[in-house]
Amino acid sequence: QFQKAKGQHILKNPLVVQSIVQKAGLKSTDVVLEIGPGTGNLTLKLLEVAKRVIAVELDPRMVLELQRRVQGTPFATKLQVIQGDILKTELPYFDICVANIPYQISSPITFKLLSHRPLFRCAVIMFQREFAMRLVAKPGDSLYCRLSVNTQLLSRVFHLLKVNKNNFRPPPKVDSSVVRIEPRNPLPPISFKEWDGLIRLCFSRKNKTLGAIFRQKNVLALLEKNFKTFQALQGTRTQSDDMDAAMLGDTTNDNSMSMDLAEDREDKEDNQDMETDDIDDTDTEMQGACTFKDKVLKVLKANSFEDKRSSKLAQEDFLLLLSIFNKEGIHFA
Ligand code: SAM
Repeated sequence: QFQKAKGQHILKNPLVVQSIVQKAGLKSTDVVLEIGPGTGNLTLKLLEVAKRVIAVELDPRMVLELQRRVQGTPFATKLQVIQGDILKTELPYFDICVANIPYQISSPITFKLLSHRPLFRCAVIMFQREFAMRLVAKPGDSLYCRLSVNTQLLSRVFHLLKVNKNNFRPPPKVDSSVVRIEPRNPLPPISFKEWDGLIRLCFSRKNKTLGAIFRQKNVLALLEKNFKTFQALQGTRTQSDDMDAAMLGDTTNDNSMSMDLAEDREDKEDNQDMETDDIDDTDTEMQGACTFKDKVLKVLKANSFEDKRSSKLAQEDFLLLLSIFNKEGIHFA
């Protein structure tokens, strides 16, 4: 009996299994991490090629079934099964991750893998089609979102294979896609807390102009508070202290950069915002001299970001935006 709550959709088509293993580009020296091996259809093929497979499976019945399948075969010594929740398991060393995962934990798994050290060569993972398309989306694509930008900051992502839902038993409601995720090495030398703060803001309404987003009173209030805190801290902490504290690893437990398909709903609402960049300029005009708002808008204007929309901006644009804001003492975390 397969359990829906655990995302148990078993991949039945041997051609798809074969294709995943082939596209993973495994070497005979590779240690493979498999997430959610289920009854072991993929696991057995991985064992044929790899040096070792470490499989993490939540369901004890599946663990037994898998162990029964390899018992007494030459593969038995190459397979280590860990029974547990992948999100709560400390990951072992691995060269490649191959997985047909439960879709409900796609986002936390992705960011758990991307914050794992030492870096692995690549992860070949089956996702729900729409999630996969968000991972690979480029500026201007309708599915381009915070997930795309965050994943592509930390890795290069390629779409490998479309898999129709009828290849699974029982079939899930949606089609799937296999993607290849290659961690970037080295990573851009930035604070990921700062990056995440900026990206959350920019994609709070991805089709609004940055000018409109940064004019919002609550946004300005938050940034001014951060600005004052950073100014107060100056002298008591060095910049490199700040950087060290905020470097990657922050994402390990809180999955602060992760997201799920709920963002899709926001996107749909957001599309209605396209033409309505209602700008609230009332307060600065009254106050005359250079306000914090002027400071923020000056940065946006000087670099021609004011009329840009996040839906069209590339990763390099966001990196530039973060660095010019930070140079002016404006911080997002
Ligand atoms: N890999 C198998 C295949 O391709 O046929 C099964 C894939 S099925 C989509 C997902 C598997 O992940 C199930 O065996 C399920 O029990 C397991 N699973 C669900 N949640 C998990 C978790 N948090 N940690 C580890 N395994 C999990």
